Amino acid sequence: MDTPGSQSSLHRANLERVLRAVRMAGSLTQAEIARSTGLSAATVSNIVRELKETGTVVVADTSSGGRRARSVSLSGDAGIVVGVDFGHTHLRVAVGNLAHRVLAEESEPIDTDVSAQQGFDRAEALVERLLSQAGFRSDKVIGVGLGVPGPIDVETGALGSTAILPGWTGVNPGRELSQRLSMQVYVDNDANLGALGELVWGAGRGLSDLAYIKVASGVGSGLVINGQIYRGPGGTAGEIGHITLDEAGPVCRCGNRGCLETFVGSRYLLNLLNASHPGELTLTKVVQLAQQGDLGCRRVIADAGRQIGSGVATLCNLLNPRRVILGGELAEAGELVLSPIRDSVARYAIPSAARQLSIVPGTLGGRAEVLGALALVMSEMGESGAIRHTGLASASTARAGRTGVAEVV
Ligand SMILES: [Zn+2]
Repeated sequence: MDTPGSQSSLHRANLERVLRAVRMAGSLTQAEIARSTGLSAATVSNIVRELKETGTVVVADTSSGGRRARSVSLSGDAGIVVGVDFGHTHLRVAVGNLAHRVLAEESEPIDTDVSAQQGFDRAEALVERLLSQAGFRSDKVIGVGLGVPGPIDVETGALGSTAILPGWTGVNPGRELSQRLSMQVYVDNDANLGALGELVWGAGRGLSDLAYIKVASGVGSGLVINGQIYRGPGGTAGEIGHITLDEAGPVCRCGNRGCLETFVGSRYLLNLLNASHPGELTLTKVVQLAQQGDLGCRRVIADAGRQIGSGVATLCNLLNPRRVILGGELAEAGELVLSPIRDSVARYAIPSAARQLSIVPGTLGGRAEVLGALALVMSEMGESGAIRHTGLASASTARAGRTGVAEVV
């Protein structure tokens, strides 16, 4: 056992910092590792050599700014990670390696009324099928990231009562899936995973301060501060959908009135079009109609954008992110929704908070959450998970503001 502060524990801590930086970026030059970890070039060079000897990383010659450089990435066989994303109407699973390659991915529709047990049965079957499709046994899996559409209680790991899937309240999703798969499972809500997905793989790459706003059935946000997801002590940070816009407005599923979500959630938007657009409508269909020039659908989307923008303005005044990334089904409307959001932000945010801000659509679409689930495992696993993973773990960890590493042997 290392004593804290000893030479060897310092070395292990530095090793872990280098590994974490490479894991999150996919691939970095040695100079970039030094910049992002704050370690000296000589220390980075020694650690990279050591990691290369153990087969944990691979080093390739590349060029950076016209100069020769060495790029470092994790070895593709350093371990397998699995992402599982439960949405309002879908289940999506991805299998990837630590070198950021997605090896298998599939999504299937689920019924909104599906019970938690049926949902986990489906997830278990899909994970097993994709692992065998990708040619990996389950003992190669370092961990599973699990996304659920609702807040996770930090103390109990149970899904909170404002979750979008009715009938799942009180269920402990991490424990359920972990028992079925006999794997370490990390759980987080879908908005945090969307933020992590866009940070690592999409529109937020290279940034350290951003907000991801998901607008679909519900409205939520994932906040990245200093390169880390900010969850708050209770795990509910980022609940932008429940900012009050009108105290006398409609009653929200959270129990308050006139929350942002009650004016921009899909059910409200579809209700607005009930009389003018008879027949089955979905949010995706509304977006399509708007893009084809339907005036009513355009108006509904523009008004939603203005409301979202006032929430984004509040968020910018408080957190001053560099970028706001819009995700969820409404983001597919592109400029039809982004332009009114920008107008509202210009109107309501403090100029200095908005000056360096860009508001963009996500680049991962419906894959943001499942890729974020892969990234969750990469961000939470410990160095031991990357180097010496040999066995299974059965505990699950609710990712809500605590540090935890995969319990591997
Ligand atoms: Zn609410």
